[in-house]
Amino acid sequence: MIALSLAEIADVVGGQTHDIPDPSVHVTGPVVRDSREVGPGSLFVAFAGERVDGHDFARAAVEAGAVAVLGTRPVGVPAVVVDDVQRALGALARHVVRRLGATLIGLTGSAGKTSTKDLIAQVLQRKAPTVFTPGSLNNEIGLPLTALSATEETRFLVLEMGARGIGHIRYLTGLTPPRIGVVLNVGSAHIGEFGGREQIAQAKGELVEALPEDGTAVLNLDDPYVRAMASRTKAKVVFFGESDEADVRAENVRLTDSGQPSFTLHTPSGASTVTLRLYGEHHVSNALAAAAVAHELGMSAEEIATALSEAGSLSRWRMEVTERPDGVTVVNDAYNANPESMRAALRALVAMGKGRRTWAVLGKMAELGDEALAEHDAVGRLAVRLNVSKLVAVGGREASWLQLGAYNEGSWGEESVHVSDAQAAIDLLRSELRPGDVVLVKASRSVGLERVAQALLETG
Ligand code: ATP
Ligand code: MG
Repeated sequence: MIALSLAEIADVVGGQTHDIPDPSVHVTGPVVRDSREVGPGSLFVAFAGERVDGHDFARAAVEAGAVAVLGTRPVGVPAVVVDDVQRALGALARHVVRRLGATLIGLTGSAGKTSTKDLIAQVLQRKAPTVFTPGSLNNEIGLPLTALSATEETRFLVLEMGARGIGHIRYLTGLTPPRIGVVLNVGSAHIGEFGGREQIAQAKGELVEALPEDGTAVLNLDDPYVRAMASRTKAKVVFFGESDEADVRAENVRLTDSGQPSFTLHTPSGASTVTLRLYGEHHVSNALAAAAVAHELGMSAEEIATALSEAGSLSRWRMEVTERPDGVTVVNDAYNANPESMRAALRALVAMGKGRRTWAVLGKMAELGDEALAEHDAVGRLAVRLNVSKLVAVGGREASWLQLGAYNEGSWGEESVHVSDAQAAIDLLRSELRPGDVVLVKASRSVGLERVAQALLETG
């Protein structure tokens, strides 16, 4: 982070200093909420959670090198005390990003935020120092912590922004106002909490409403809800998508035999061929979004295409492909699932599994509200239509809906199995898998299906 004195921090967050012998001492970063991540020069942010109270770790943090603690009560070590730690953290981030010389890029969408954020970062890094959200830390705490990790050298700050309701993105853009805002798609992730797709579009669109006149909204032309956001911004609009009218578009999209998408990238300044290292056709759209951002920031089509073709996944359990010595391929996409990503993953499985037996080991997609039954049924049906060899539905009610979909679509009996939990799936697969099989493992985070993928790799 850029160096700030404790006096300045207290001023910015409207806090009281306690046990601070010298307020001119500087915090140089990192700003952390986990005392195990404290380093020399750190500011330790103490949150009082339900189970763990960060204040209990204040002394350990200072002993590990933290300059001070940001918390809600004096703790006997140097501290800036405020009423509301989250608010204070936000105020600090807002203050710091104003002083940075970096261009802020914010992105949101129902699916693909982390994948796209990783792509954008890997492309922009070729041009200038780039700081980006680690993993999926896209909320009101992770976002300011990320912003505070930027330094004077940082030229690009890429921030994933998540929303579980109206006003969430507005809060985040208030802390770190982006100059470029990317909206990927409006799907059904968290639709239960939002109440409907219109509400999701309303919430995600807050990103483009926050852009300044000289900013750029990067919008997905293929998604009608996202396309419609063009009327909600003062900024210039750049469309990406597969249609001819898109400013940044893909032509001749195909999946290579290993399931990786390849296409011709067209930008207003030229065209170049991209072959992604990522699996699944849905990444074409993500790559186009990244290309649109990079084009906006002055990179050529060739530079962008090269960077995209060399970019890997930076995040765990997202279409992680591992080949076992016996020739079984395990595709671990257990990080999360929603209807869009389920469909994309099934298509990738089938592309990778040409001429091989393919297994879809699937669990519940959470938070779908009233659409849950229909969406699970549709995924089960799609597995049949795509000619997946075997469906293993794991878990309770939702798993039975997956299986029922397969049964209704293709009278699937033996081709689909319903097991109660991850262990049962592991036992089944251990006895049934044959060399050359391809296994996709995917469900919502809460199901914890990565256990299945890990167990399959251990026994390999
Ligand atoms: P979260 O809300 O959990 O942070 P996210 O929006 O960051 O999710 P990713 O982590 O990138 O999304 O991807 C989540 C899942 O969605 C993965 O299974 C991934 O393969 C799939 N996915 C990625 N991009 C898309 C896309 N454009 N359309 C549909 N599915 C996608
Ligand atoms: Mg994410």
